[in-house]
Amino acid sequence: MKLIDGKQVSASIKEGLAEQVATFPEKYGRVPHLVVVRVGEDPASVVYVRNKAKACEACGIQNTTLVLPEETSEEALLEKIRALNADDSVDGLLVQLPLPRHISEAKVIETIDQSKDVDGFHPYNVAGLWQKTPHMSPCTPQGIMKLLAAEGVDPKGKRAVVIGRSNIVGLPVAKMLLDANATVTLCHTRTVDLPSVTRQAEILVVAAGRAKMVTGDMVSPGCVVIDVGMDRDPETGKLCGDVDFDSVAPKAAAITPVPGGVGPMTIACLMENTVQCFLNKQNKR
Ligand code: NAD
Repeated sequence: MKLIDGKQVSASIKEGLAEQVATFPEKYGRVPHLVVVRVGEDPASVVYVRNKAKACEACGIQNTTLVLPEETSEEALLEKIRALNADDSVDGLLVQLPLPRHISEAKVIETIDQSKDVDGFHPYNVAGLWQKTPHMSPCTPQGIMKLLAAEGVDPKGKRAVVIGRSNIVGLPVAKMLLDANATVTLCHTRTVDLPSVTRQAEILVVAAGRAKMVTGDMVSPGCVVIDVGMDRDPETGKLCGDVDFDSVAPKAAAITPVPGGVGPMTIACLMENTVQCFLNKQNKR
């Protein structure tokens, strides 16, 4: 079994970006600028937003973190987003999810200018993925594909099984695997006899949000296992994935750990998208 080291792959992506960004002041007169908006004090969001700021620092990207109070109205947030859309000094913009219940996530996602949508969640960017037209790719699915590439795993002709069909992870990564010529099965809560499907997988991507739900008996020997889950172990309270690492790892050809697998790749891809938004803008001038 080989451990797929997302920390190392993401570090090398960020190093490459830092070198590239260092050339921008001379070429373009400034560096890319990412604005991250956080509404409220959700503890996981506080950590994610802090990690995004740290990654910006590592890459030489300018970062502004805006923290708005929990009781911010939907209209006030949308107004803020419109102002940031209009601000030419801002290249990338994201609003950390989840949002307080009184704010529509769909409205927020639609309001962010497509050209600044570093998360790749805007309907036009989603359409671009499905129609194979230019678009901003969602970070976690993109990170998964890069991890497979870094491990020398070519999905072409392989049987890939994805558990979870969310718009953020499962559905787009299934589409990316399909575009990479894998034969893809997408599983969800209504899937009957999940283990019989997962045992067929040569590549298994698990994004269900259920701690340790995939156990060793659900995986065939030689499978490459990508664990997207970020859960809490109900017994120890420690961070764990959707895959029961101890029983699955001995059977897998390669597996991502949690933490240290997909998570760091999501942030590295966010940095790449920020640079891409900046360059798209420069190339339009
Ligand atoms: P979600 O809740 O939106 O979607 C979960 C999907 O899993 C649903 O489609 C559901 O049908 C399916 N599912 C749930 N239980 C199932 C079961 N028992 N059998 C089959 N299918 C089942 O979640 P999400 O936003 O896609 O996130 C999934 C996990 O990935 C979470 O743990 C989340 O924290 C994590 N995540 C990690 C990163 C990262 O950067 N590492 C990024 C995004 C999400």
